[in-house]
Amino acid sequence: MTPSLRESCGIFGVYTPEEDVARISFYGLYALQHRGQESAGIATSDGRRLHLRTGMGLVSQVFAEEDLAYLPGRLAIGHTRYSTTGSSREANAQPVLVEGPNGTLALGHNGNIVNAAVLRADLEEQGVAFAAGADSEVIAQVLATAPGANWQDRFAHLMRRLEGAYSLVVLTPQALMVARDPMGNRPLSLGRLDSGWVVASETCAFDHLGATFIREVEPGEALHIDEGGVQSLKGFESRRDAFCIFEYIYFARPDSVIDGKLLYPVRMAMGAQLAREHPADADFVIGIPDSATAAAVGYSQESGIPFVEGLVKNRYVGRTFIEPDQRIREMGVHLKFNPLREVLEGRRLVVVDDSIVRGTTTPRVIAMLRRAGAREVHMRITAPPITHPCFFGIDMGTRWELIASQMSVPEVEHHVGADSLGHLSVDRLLKAVGLPREHFCLACFTGDYPMPVPLQMDKLALEPAMGARDRHEFEWPDVVRPSPVRKS
Ligand code: SF4
Repeated sequence: MTPSLRESCGIFGVYTPEEDVARISFYGLYALQHRGQESAGIATSDGRRLHLRTGMGLVSQVFAEEDLAYLPGRLAIGHTRYSTTGSSREANAQPVLVEGPNGTLALGHNGNIVNAAVLRADLEEQGVAFAAGADSEVIAQVLATAPGANWQDRFAHLMRRLEGAYSLVVLTPQALMVARDPMGNRPLSLGRLDSGWVVASETCAFDHLGATFIREVEPGEALHIDEGGVQSLKGFESRRDAFCIFEYIYFARPDSVIDGKLLYPVRMAMGAQLAREHPADADFVIGIPDSATAAAVGYSQESGIPFVEGLVKNRYVGRTFIEPDQRIREMGVHLKFNPLREVLEGRRLVVVDDSIVRGTTTPRVIAMLRRAGAREVHMRITAPPITHPCFFGIDMGTRWELIASQMSVPEVEHHVGADSLGHLSVDRLLKAVGLPREHFCLACFTGDYPMPVPLQMDKLALEPAMGARDRHEFEWPDVVRPSPVRKS
């Protein structure tokens, strides 16, 4: 459920000479909608110029049939956004377009750059002007101005300069390029179409498009894709792997494959480990739909306690964090779930959820279950206590907002109103995933960050002052200007 833990973005790219790349991108982004719901955008190339359409809202709100006709070409990139740097406004929607000595390029980014302010100041000193307030524009400008005779050199320069987490899709008039940071923090995979290639944050997008998964882009690797095929530009040696383990716990869809593993059974294994680590005497196991369903099934199978659906989700509401304001967010739980009184009344429940971040949603869920007649509520959480903030693209607030950084587990148990509370430990989480500790970033549980990070990070640090120009006031040479955003 995790409404206060927000993913940064979903990225997508396609090359095909035989199909409508805008339409393919639309459906690719549609499959990645869970990774960001604030804005969406698609950029295409017809071989000479780039065409762009971005807007606020869901993919289905931003694009209509006539928008796709406006986006011709054989190459495209797309993006769904949740803002982790920069505010939620149209000028920060991606892909971003920039013009530099290396030509015009569009870029979509998933992750967070920790040295964006320094890079931006350097570029501004060189006379580069910025249109918006996201680190993605900084990355695009570093690449557009990078020294080097070819893209291999320029990506090597980019990867030497960037510190932080990034999976990138980049579009020039001639090629689609992608890159993944040297620690491989955010996911990115390559797939094959009959007549071309696709890349996406998650493999579930390939399934919807009938594409075949080929492989993950390696940490520190960039790919150059055009009519000549896929060329690997090895950009940078990986210092250490630091894949975000929250992709396994919550962010990625359960039908996506990461590290060769389908996530649904991995989440079931987390539930089974949770049952071993924190058994409970109860009548039923329920999961918070949909994100904790697989783990609840795993808990049930391991414990022998029957799994039932105790909460029905209104599937058309979406994740509760779509609503930005606290009052509406509080209402969101009731908009989203309806408890089944006949199932819950008089019962002792194990309730499996994926995480507790600020501790604002869990008490409301427990209160709702009790109002529906639950006699006992034993919360079981597949994420270990979150004690440290994320600097790599997951907006979980500042450290003092994280309830586990301020309270012990028994104190949180009391605060949320549970009869008992148990978190999966880091060791058992790793056991469920089946990969070594060294493969992962676990920093929000341990404080052991894979690279030096600022003490605190302000997601609006790169925002221009109030009244600054909107991106649409800029002229883009060789670029078709975006038309006004549709309000829906
Ligand atoms: S700090 Fe946590 S959420 Fe952020 S990348 Fe690391 S594991 Fe993922």
